[in-house]
Amino acid sequence: MLKNFYADAYFNRITDVTAEFLNENKIKGIILDIDNTLIGHDVPIPDETILLHLRYLENAGFKLCVVSNNRYERVKSFCNKIDVKYFVYDALKPRKMGYDFAAKEMQLQKNEIAAIGDQVFTDVWGAKRAGCLAILTKPLHKGGEGFFIALKRLLEKPFIKPYK
Ligand SMILES: [Mg+2]
Repeated sequence: MLKNFYADAYFNRITDVTAEFLNENKIKGIILDIDNTLIGHDVPIPDETILLHLRYLENAGFKLCVVSNNRYERVKSFCNKIDVKYFVYDALKPRKMGYDFAAKEMQLQKNEIAAIGDQVFTDVWGAKRAGCLAILTKPLHKGGEGFFIALKRLLEKPFIKPYK
């Protein structure tokens, strides 16, 4: 149970996750979290380096699917902006359901999918329960998140190993 809170790999940002690393782990598709993974909650559009990294991953042959607990409108408009075709909204991470949908969309097995996100108790736990490779990144924007997220970050601490 506790082992489901430890990610399989820790990176600073999504842009540090390389095609080589994914290939070494026999990964063919990537599940992406939105908030604080692809975009800081304090900015309207994603960083250019992150957009370029998504294109690099696609060109390297990886399928991409956004899986978010956000509502349809927010997820759809964000995916249009970043030009990602597959997405799952209202995913209820850490429940398995959203990962199952994503695997179906990408026509991949869950052990062929890496899930990248910034939260231990939603993204890592969800990925591990679903049988995906769990990659934890540092939240893009820290602070100004309010009391409950600050508390959650504190509770996450014991499960976070040094980032690559
Ligand atoms: Mg997030």
